[in-house]
Amino acid sequence: MSNQSADPSTTAQAPINVPAAVLFSISTLMVLTVFPLYAWHHDFSGAAWLWFFIFLFASGLSITGGYHRLWAHRAYEARLPLRIFYMLFGAQSLENSILVWCSMHRVHHKNVDHVDDDPYSIKRGFWYAHMGWMLRDRPCHAVDLSNVQDLQRDPVVMFQHKHYLGLALFMNIGLPGLIGMLYGEPGAFLMLAGLLRLVVNHHFTFFINSLAHMWGRRPYTEENTARDNDLIALFTYGEGYHNYHHLFSWDYRNGVRWWNVDLTKWWIAMLSWVGQSHSLRRVPEFKIRRAMIERQFARAQQKLASAAPTTRLEHVKQLLEHEMEAFKATVNEWTRLQTEKIEAAKKQVMDRVAERWEHSEARRQLQVLEEALHLQYRRVRLLHMQTA
Ligand SMILES: [Zn+2]
Ligand SMILES: [Zn+2]
Repeated sequence: MSNQSADPSTTAQAPINVPAAVLFSISTLMVLTVFPLYAWHHDFSGAAWLWFFIFLFASGLSITGGYHRLWAHRAYEARLPLRIFYMLFGAQSLENSILVWCSMHRVHHKNVDHVDDDPYSIKRGFWYAHMGWMLRDRPCHAVDLSNVQDLQRDPVVMFQHKHYLGLALFMNIGLPGLIGMLYGEPGAFLMLAGLLRLVVNHHFTFFINSLAHMWGRRPYTEENTARDNDLIALFTYGEGYHNYHHLFSWDYRNGVRWWNVDLTKWWIAMLSWVGQSHSLRRVPEFKIRRAMIERQFARAQQKLASAAPTTRLEHVKQLLEHEMEAFKATVNEWTRLQTEKIEAAKKQVMDRVAERWEHSEARRQLQVLEEALHLQYRRVRLLHMQTA
């Protein structure tokens, strides 16, 4: 398969994406030179640090909760004020417009790990998946918005796409500068809430494409490189449960257990309490357990196949087969009950439609027509009898 034959030369030959290269070079250089120089000569107030964290979380959650789970995966619905918040702070994170980001991300899910067709394929290495992919214009990076037609109906998304540059400049320079002026220290705010926040947030969110495809466990699927890792989840606003996410991408949660550190999941749930988010989608627990058990069976069978045969091993094999039968029976029973549930729901809908029809104006008009036809029949019959 072509995803096994990474050809780094293809990346080297691809033309440089100038705006991205300039942005990353300038922000990295500045954070390594201008920032320490400024910090050496100035003190940062508590207010400047506070706004650093406010902007860090606002722009981070706008990528994970907004760009990713709301728009790219439609894992829940959001009211207008929340969508505007995501649109503004998403522009602050400088990771392209919602439309372009989501289009690329949907391609990533569709072609995950494919060396040529996954825009940030880990098969080309850590650096490429982390940042390198943005510095080169490869064919898979060509913007094709045909896979985000649903998002083009959202006026908030389209507004950001049209005014992206202005919004990005205002949110990164204008807003921190203005708030800084209110506190009498615009320079410190530009350094902390502007520059440092931008670079930190960049790398935190880039870890999702790099580290979360390399380091961690795979409890749900081994069909791709995505991993679950609590430490990465801590720095990626909860997106470190990437193995779960690649199998169940429509779930608004990535860390599905209550103890999983998934800040974005808690943020979305909290917003639903105040009515800003709704229709949160969850994968049924049975399906999650089924995926985990299937992984366990596959692993056990792999081990048994490679181990030298012994009497004890034979016994384990038999027990495993017995468990497999029980598992299949449970899955079949679940499928049967699910079908029954769907049929009952369908019947309920049909009954409700029939009931509404019974009381409708159309039904009454149809009755009138039926009566008219009956009268006509009698008239014609009478005429017919007269001609006899
Ligand atoms: Zn991924
Ligand atoms: Zn995703």
